[in-house]
Amino acid sequence: MGVLIKNGTVVTAESEFQSDVYMEGETIAAIGKNLPQKDGDEVIDAAGKYILPGGVDQHVHFSFTYNGSKVRGFETSDAAAVGGTTTLIEFVNQEKGKGLIETLENYKASDADGIAMVDYAFHSVMTDPREEVIEEIPKMAEAGYPTMKLFMAYKGMFFHADDDAILKALQKGKEAGVTIMVHAENADMIDVLTKQLIAEGKTAPYYHAVSRPPVVEAEATRRAIYLAELADAPIYIVHVTCREALEEIKQAYSRGQAVYGETCAHYLVLDTEDLAKPDFEGAKYVCSPALRTEEHRKALWEAVDRKWLNAISSDHCGFDYENQKHMGFGEGKSFADIPNGAPGLQNRINILWTYGVCQGKLSPSRLVDLCCTMPAKINGLQTKGRIETGCDGDIVIFDPDYRGTMSVKNNLEGVDYSPFEGFEQKGRPDTVFLRGQKIVESGKYIGQKGQGKFVPGKPFGAAYKG
Ligand SMILES: [Zn+2]
Repeated sequence: MGVLIKNGTVVTAESEFQSDVYMEGETIAAIGKNLPQKDGDEVIDAAGKYILPGGVDQHVHFSFTYNGSKVRGFETSDAAAVGGTTTLIEFVNQEKGKGLIETLENYKASDADGIAMVDYAFHSVMTDPREEVIEEIPKMAEAGYPTMKLFMAYKGMFFHADDDAILKALQKGKEAGVTIMVHAENADMIDVLTKQLIAEGKTAPYYHAVSRPPVVEAEATRRAIYLAELADAPIYIVHVTCREALEEIKQAYSRGQAVYGETCAHYLVLDTEDLAKPDFEGAKYVCSPALRTEEHRKALWEAVDRKWLNAISSDHCGFDYENQKHMGFGEGKSFADIPNGAPGLQNRINILWTYGVCQGKLSPSRLVDLCCTMPAKINGLQTKGRIETGCDGDIVIFDPDYRGTMSVKNNLEGVDYSPFEGFEQKGRPDTVFLRGQKIVESGKYIGQKGQGKFVPGKPFGAAYKG
């Protein structure tokens, strides 16, 4: 008993073609024209629709705590499903005094297993670079966690990493094919500007962007690239947002260095001016790096189209606006007290289809590569992100004729706002399969809590392959 999807347009990272797709059990069993129907098969007519691989979102925060405020977790992962994303990769901060793998396994058992509604993997975030923790890095590869991030930003926070830690991580990571990722912003520059702005009484959310201009990101990106050069290791720059940082990546790449990066959906459609919205509404747009201007968005669209950046993630971070307001508004408070991050899990692919594909900035194939295929390869998820026989039956039947409006009202993220409120939406994932099982029908989630499973990553992901 399988599922036969007929008459659709299959989109892969390379091309588009008319074809049927047949799933048997948990995997894609056949792709081709006029595939035969077997007894008991479910047959779906996908005429006029696109058949995409399930999305892979490699940048999600389900366990982040910022100054005591915690984000929504895997209990809201149905939001990913209805948004056409069937695999999430979450950043888990190492707990002080605990090992990298120990932290990941504890978190997985308590907060993901039996709860997740899509498949999942993890990146470790090293926060405690003791010698024994550095020594543990190669072991992560065997345990199914072949990626690790370090935060160059956030001076004074427990998760901030200095150059010492990054260099050691790069050196140790390459022994076993662990890909090192960095959040590239110069922590000291931000700290100085933040204190100066607050002293001048410039405390509103807008000054968040003033406290971390593009040069802050460009400097850290360049420094990370030099650290990687010294270690002779590949490096991955998460959420690239500006022209200057892009230049650093392009130049290093042209020199033959293995430097790769992603951007995120909100950096392609939101603007610094959103932070200036009245009545403290700007707090909804406090994320790091900060939102940029038109000039940078143009550069980013070009970069994702021309493969200078190889993935688009959500950097989903579900802090409630109520909480942001409570923490950052009022006597003695400032933008620096607002938890950083915005929700965006559900609308990542919808944003890219509406504002990328429909506006001629991306082809459907580029979208698939950026949102599905490359993120799987970077993270060593060998059966994800592709429509190929033998791959997992993670399939999105995408209806390009759907018309709607993005709003927190029809959002499953469980957060009290959406940064894309009121955005026009063209097209949507109509039907979604997770390993051969239907979890979304007519845009509605119909799966079950706990249906998602852990997918171990293999070391030596795409950043090691040139
Ligand atoms: Zn992030």
